[in-house]
Amino acid sequence: MEANICNIQKFSLHDGPGIRTVVFFKGCPLRCRWCANPESQERALGTGQDLGGRRACLKEVLEACLQDKPFYEESGGGVTLSGGEALLWPDFALALLQALRQKGIHTALETTGFADPKAFQSVAGETDYFLYDMKHWDSPRHREGTGVDNRLILENLRWAIAAGKEVLPRIPVIPGYNDSLSDAAGFCRRLLEAGAKRVQLLPFHQLGEQKYVLLGRDYAYKDVPALHPEELETYRQAFQQQGIDAFF
Ligand code: SF4
Repeated sequence: MEANICNIQKFSLHDGPGIRTVVFFKGCPLRCRWCANPESQERALGTGQDLGGRRACLKEVLEACLQDKPFYEESGGGVTLSGGEALLWPDFALALLQALRQKGIHTALETTGFADPKAFQSVAGETDYFLYDMKHWDSPRHREGTGVDNRLILENLRWAIAAGKEVLPRIPVIPGYNDSLSDAAGFCRRLLEAGAKRVQLLPFHQLGEQKYVLLGRDYAYKDVPALHPEELETYRQAFQQQGIDAFF
């Protein structure tokens, strides 16, 4: 079994609990205008937008993940599937998660949530922890910013929480797109409807800009300044006031 991957990153501390290996899959169903990983958007290789992407077989990816098992055990870590969107490779993702779990390794999925509910639920059965991104609470605005509406995303989020999965919703806070107090109120409504009690806020940064240069693509957020937690304290408080634990 094979999949296209961007890379495998070791010793990550920001993609779930403990020390983790992160497998970045190629291909994403969204086209976020602020995307910091534009090289991960195309599922296919050889499009001139790979920046090191390659074909990898299940055995090879599994072996790379297993190399750091002692670190996972020591730190309470494990393996995170990310992208792009790992759910664009549902059979590979499922087989990898199953194999990892059979070895006693904690599994996480960093996801857009934009996936067929059947595929989502099947992969969810082998996933211990979700990093679940929400880009906008309003469907037309979601489509404006990402190219797709948010119906499937909210449906899968509701299902995962109702199924008792451990889910951390995350909002990339994007200047002029979803950073107003009325946006915070809209997100709160969606989170409460889904049964979420906490959310991580990810302030917009410019770390992807150089990749657009390498890819020869225009970057819609080229001159937009980064956001910082101290500028978003009132925004964060708006979640707290609705009973949602919001943190950076
Ligand atoms: S979901 Fe992530 S990888 Fe996909 S386009 Fe948006 S920011 Fe980029």
